[in-house]
Amino acid sequence: MSTPIIIDGKEVAAQVRERLKTEIAELKAQGHTPGLAVVLVGEDPASQVYVGSKVKACTELGLYSQKWELPASATQDELVQLIHRLNADDRIHGILVQSPPPPHIDEEAVILNIDPRKDVDGFHPVNVAKLVLEDESGFVPCTPLGCMELLKAHGLETAGKHAVVIGRSMIVGKPMAHLLVSKKANATVTIAHSRTKDLPALCRTADILVAAVGRPEMVTADYIKPGAVVLDVGINRIDDATRPRGYRIVGDVDYTSAAPVCSAITPVPGGVGPMTIAMLMANTVKACRQLTASR
Ligand code: NAD
Repeated sequence: MSTPIIIDGKEVAAQVRERLKTEIAELKAQGHTPGLAVVLVGEDPASQVYVGSKVKACTELGLYSQKWELPASATQDELVQLIHRLNADDRIHGILVQSPPPPHIDEEAVILNIDPRKDVDGFHPVNVAKLVLEDESGFVPCTPLGCMELLKAHGLETAGKHAVVIGRSMIVGKPMAHLLVSKKANATVTIAHSRTKDLPALCRTADILVAAVGRPEMVTADYIKPGAVVLDVGINRIDDATRPRGYRIVGDVDYTSAAPVCSAITPVPGGVGPMTIAMLMANTVKACRQLTASR
């Protein structure tokens, strides 16, 4: 039992924003203001909060932003038409459609319509391919990108380490695994999922354990090799009558039991979460740089 490094995502996100300020100033001096369009379909309250935070982050950094709120009744065609308009709008360098859209919208088909050069979420197949090909002109989903930034900021070595990523989603698990196995990070990676056998035993072989499952506090101390680095991506609401809202947010890792076993760990909230929007800003600035250089 020792005291782990508590990886402070708010602090690292602030460092990312500081770095971006210099780059934004340079782009503005050349007459280019990075611009992000955020599109929300429907009135899901959690999505409204996320969209609001993304627009606020743009304003704070001096980026141009557009917020499009379409009614839940909007058709797939109307959404696609809007995306085509945004693809053609020179003020917009990044386009994001807030997930999940209402059930009648085919999200994958919508994403195919986003110009890959403006796909700052990194969901378009062109960007998925670029991640696998290690072509750095592509866009990587913001949450795994933020996880890598946290490791880098704390000087946590990945080369030669065994990383286990729990979760195989296209938003977190798979891109995280690709980043870790890339020639830049050089980890040896295992992806675990709902059908993995004896998950605790597999996780105990991990020097770096990334939990992206969506199950509150599933990863307990017996999943963790002493001295491992643990990144908890999970954001789960659990009932808590002692809180004013009646719930609290916990990760996929049981922090209280896990923290004494690891060498470094991200808390929830305040770990991976704050990095996601910071990396969205970074992707938007990158899109602006690449698009304006090619004009
Ligand atoms: P998802 O539901 O798409 O994928 C979950 C993955 O976990 C699946 O691949 C599934 O196979 C695996 N899984 C489910 N049950 C399992 C089990 N018992 N054992 C092993 N694997 C199991 O979820 P997602 O979109 O990847 O998100 C995962 C978590 O991360 C959620 O809590 C989500 O809220 C959170 N998240 C956080 C951020 C952030 O900004 N911090 C961003 C995206 C997602």
